[in-house]
Amino acid sequence: AERERTAAWTGPGATADGYPVDILANVQDGAGARAARETPAQGVGLFRTELCFLERETEPTVAEQADIYAEVFDAYAGRKVVVRTLDAGSDKPLRFANHPEEPNPALGVRGIRITSAAPGILERQLDAVAEAARRTGASPWVMAPMIATIGEAAEFAALVRERDLSPGVMVEIPAAALMADRLLEHVDFLSIGTNDLAQYTLAADRMSPQLAALTTSWQPAVLMLVAQTARAGAVVGKPVGVCGEAGADPLLACVLAGMGVTSLSCAASAVAPVGARLSTVTMDRCREAAEAVLNAVDAAEARSVANRILE
Ligand code: PEP
Ligand code: MG
Repeated sequence: AERERTAAWTGPGATADGYPVDILANVQDGAGARAARETPAQGVGLFRTELCFLERETEPTVAEQADIYAEVFDAYAGRKVVVRTLDAGSDKPLRFANHPEEPNPALGVRGIRITSAAPGILERQLDAVAEAARRTGASPWVMAPMIATIGEAAEFAALVRERDLSPGVMVEIPAAALMADRLLEHVDFLSIGTNDLAQYTLAADRMSPQLAALTTSWQPAVLMLVAQTARAGAVVGKPVGVCGEAGADPLLACVLAGMGVTSLSCAASAVAPVGARLSTVTMDRCREAAEAVLNAVDAAEARSVANRILE
């Protein structure tokens, strides 16, 4: 029955009683965006731009970057596209971003932090995004990875607004979740990266199979930070999405919707299963589950309590 429901689901994302939750796709290039168009995804919630350049020895020019970004905008013409600026470093090193060898790369110069190590690289990328937007008529949202402080968010937002684009930041460090309300004084939206948020909340390497039980987003501590972030968005009426793997788990996606998350972005292959599952539950049930998971003692209990409520 579940497989049939998934095959039959055509979007847009909503609960059984009609509360909309945008279901978006995570992509890494034009080909990925065109493939996502074959699914009911309503837009792109995370365009991981660094993955376009993993093989490059030197920084791509503004024109080269604009061509690549325009492909994604064209694939989703007239739809929502959220571009993430380069998240270089740690598990995604970029040779041209010049970060030094570090003993602890996950805690080192990555994400927004490369702007100090590689001056001008962010500005040139934003120029390329603006150029691609102009060329295709798109109105992309642009967000920064690995934001830890209000100052970083304010500086980033100013650069994005200078180019007439809409700024947001990722919430993937506990510091950002704890200060979500203050981040929202500077940006138009937040997007929660649950992969890194779990890694940094549990102090457990997201790449380590041995630690997978710790780095699941079902951890109540992670869910508390997600709930706090979603609440901050609801208070001021600004969108708060989830773009980490948590949004690809159909059961957890319903819990996130109950927390007030306004969009879920996941791998294209997860779009239909997530949308289909959400369409079977009421928002009341999602809220009930969202409250219950926060009282769970561990990840296993959080999952089983959500399963019971949302069955
Ligand atoms: C995340 O951390 O959850 C995220 C979406 O970003 P990435 O997986 O690319 O680090
Ligand atoms: Mg991340």
